[in-house]
Amino acid sequence: MMKTMMKIKRVLVVLAVVPVATAVTVRLKPDTTYFRAAYAQAQPYDLVIRNARIIDGTGSPWYRGEIGVRGDTIALIAPSITGQAARVIDANGQIVSPGFIDIHNHARETIFELPSADNYIRQGVTTLIEGPDGGSPVPLGPFLDKLEATQKSINIGSFIGQGSVREAVLGKENRRHTHAELDKMRGIVEDGMKAGAFGMSTGLFYVPGAFTPIEEVIELAKVAGKYGGIHISHMRDEAFGVLDSVRETIRIGEEGGLPTQITHHKIIGPKNYGKSVETLKLLDAARVRGVDATSDQYPYTASSNNLTAGLIPQWAQEGGRQQMLGRLKNPATRKEIAGEVARTIREERGGGDPKNIFLAHCDFDASMAGKNLADVARMRGMEPTIENGAEAGMWVVEQGICQAVYHAMSEQDLERIMRHPATMIASDGWVQILGRGVPHPRSYGTFPRVLGVYVRERNVITLEDAIRKMASFPAQRMRMNDRGVLRPGMKADITIFDPARVRDMATFEKPHQYAEGFASVIVNGQVVFDGKAMTSARPGKVLRRN
Ligand SMILES: [Zn+2]
Repeated sequence: MMKTMMKIKRVLVVLAVVPVATAVTVRLKPDTTYFRAAYAQAQPYDLVIRNARIIDGTGSPWYRGEIGVRGDTIALIAPSITGQAARVIDANGQIVSPGFIDIHNHARETIFELPSADNYIRQGVTTLIEGPDGGSPVPLGPFLDKLEATQKSINIGSFIGQGSVREAVLGKENRRHTHAELDKMRGIVEDGMKAGAFGMSTGLFYVPGAFTPIEEVIELAKVAGKYGGIHISHMRDEAFGVLDSVRETIRIGEEGGLPTQITHHKIIGPKNYGKSVETLKLLDAARVRGVDATSDQYPYTASSNNLTAGLIPQWAQEGGRQQMLGRLKNPATRKEIAGEVARTIREERGGGDPKNIFLAHCDFDASMAGKNLADVARMRGMEPTIENGAEAGMWVVEQGICQAVYHAMSEQDLERIMRHPATMIASDGWVQILGRGVPHPRSYGTFPRVLGVYVRERNVITLEDAIRKMASFPAQRMRMNDRGVLRPGMKADITIFDPARVRDMATFEKPHQYAEGFASVIVNGQVVFDGKAMTSARPGKVLRRN
């Protein structure tokens, strides 16, 4: 009954609508709702979506209706829309929802190379938010201006990253700020907020964010809060210290006077599995006493970051890469570092075995992509023990920069976090160049994986709740008042998909596969994906905080 491919036809209908509307004006006062609706019907539409099961994004159950779009805006939603339309899309009873909003995205690496952002559009995402994990361009304004000047398929906005702000002023040094330096950092955050940042991100796990005293973070958070921004945090520790890190994230919101969010909430390391019971209790308790604290998540039990950040202790990274390489050359410090790397493999993101850590992309040798640290140990003539895995990891770090994938989380924690009403969905991915490296599949599959696996197969959350977590919730978080919900007057960012077929295709072994089941993706009223291919439309806008 549901056709797999949607029919898109261009129609030019000559209508007898105008006389009807004229007749209506004679009988009704011009200011009545009915008159406005009739008048609206009389104007031609640029796009009408028929036979839709509409999920409006709020979490309410789907309803049947048709959507009329004029320019970049939803003009009307009604049981049936008559009136001229330049283009009609028959949704054939499929789901029509708001385009998804990804609040954690690393698009800046490749968005200028691939401004169509195919891997995101083709999973129903219409807005990407950059600047997560404490990392953003500094100053932010010129980056947003450059994006503005780039023709792109997708909307994009950004946070200002606290780690980048600190690095611009103090470098990668592990020391307290002076008064003058704090003022300088405040000024950079303020400039970023004035340029339109949605708030300030922290990455207290990363260097130099890791060297930041909490009081300094709070001082900068106050600046972001003054401009109506939020704080979003890649926490200091997602393994043994995860409870303290959640407390710290809550404290930044509470004392900084702004909404606060745990980003990509997860529990790393087998010995920590189950701790999401406690982290979510902390979140609930904070909300009960009035702290505006939330979280987001991607639906995979593996994480991904730079191998140096993931393996090498923060003290050994102080001062930057050259200093770190110096420490690795010194036999005594190397031994100390090796001990900590082995512990990370044994108990944290290595999940107890070097074969759980995969190289996604290395700048010095493309053929390293897809190998795990056990492979690298063997390649170097060693048994793949934990200690040799640590040695292999340090060797890779010495060769150059690699992105890595770590399998060390549990499904139970993932599902528990997903069920929580204050968790939204975000990918933490990149705009991917098809075929380049072996990246984490989240860049291709985050949103359809939630819809296919966690909604349809496992019934962890409902379809309507999933869409809320992908659309209205992130929009509300960023006070993006004109997106994230399907309602007249809102921007026409719209995703159409088959709820029976939607699924992620990207795997850890073969990540470069687009999602399936998406029939149409519309950004600012223009079709950017037609179910088969990307179109030539580039309607994406730079979004700035209201
Ligand atoms: Zn992160």
